[in-house]
Amino acid sequence: MRQSSEPAEAPHKAALRTIPPGLHLVSTPIGAARDITLRALDVLAGADVLVAEDTRTLRHLMEIHGIPLGGRPLIAYHDHSGEGPLQRLLALVAEGKSLAYASEAGTPLISDPGFELARAVAAAGLPISAAPGPCAAICALTLSGLPSDRFLFAGFPPAAQGARRSFLQELAPVQATLIVYESPKRLASLLQDMAATLGGQRQAVVCRELTKRFEEVLRGPLETLQADVAAREIKGEIVVLVDRAAPTEASKESIRAALDQALQTMSVKDAATFVSQTLGVSRKIVYRIALDRQG
Ligand code: SAM
Repeated sequence: MRQSSEPAEAPHKAALRTIPPGLHLVSTPIGAARDITLRALDVLAGADVLVAEDTRTLRHLMEIHGIPLGGRPLIAYHDHSGEGPLQRLLALVAEGKSLAYASEAGTPLISDPGFELARAVAAAGLPISAAPGPCAAICALTLSGLPSDRFLFAGFPPAAQGARRSFLQELAPVQATLIVYESPKRLASLLQDMAATLGGQRQAVVCRELTKRFEEVLRGPLETLQADVAAREIKGEIVVLVDRAAPTEASKESIRAALDQALQTMSVKDAATFVSQTLGVSRKIVYRIALDRQG
């Protein structure tokens, strides 16, 4: 993943603020270099130590925004760097240093490194904060036109077809907008498997090259998108979103059976919410049946 090399119009004069001790997770652009936040620039300008998944990418981003490294250490780190490097970073935080951590693009930890470090800092009771910003999944969700009240981000689907189909079958009944990342070379087979496991009529959206020059958003039922994508060459970075399954027609018997089960461990209110969500039935109807069962 590359940052756009387009220089910023005016370099940011990052305030040389004192950055408090601790680990600072810094979100960086997913394409357009100017999507970085002012606070992220402040953290990069003022942290004692810079840590990055890819030091060249971070150095380039800092150059674009006119932030000098100024003799500060710039350390490469990702989740597979091992225990030694992890302990060295923890020791720096414990000494009271401020560390800025950036992954190659977007938000660290979101299908990117940073989890092991963040977990270790939190577990040690040391300070941790985030300078939030771009994230491809959230950017895609907001412009997809699909419901955003509830969503499930599932990272990259498995590359092997058998594992991918099981992964999709597990997601099929989830009552939320599904969001996955995919490489352009596997997009056509992913859409084919999605149509087979989730149903060809489900609405889906393919977001390509978000915030970049060739940004593109394709919307339609899975079977149409699958045919469109199979007919052309797809390049760039991709997010795929799929609408939730249409509510099924649940019978009164199945609602009663689900309620009886749920009421063994839940209050009437919680059981009604749970059953209405899992069966895709109006909560009001389920609540009325639950009260009848109680009375
Ligand atoms: N941490 C990043 C984030 O916050 O979105 C994600 C890193 S993950 C290694 C890279 C994947 O994110 C890409 O393969 C693609 O699926 C998605 N992605 C990143 N940038 C994107 C963009 N500009 N447009 C579409 N998808 C993008």
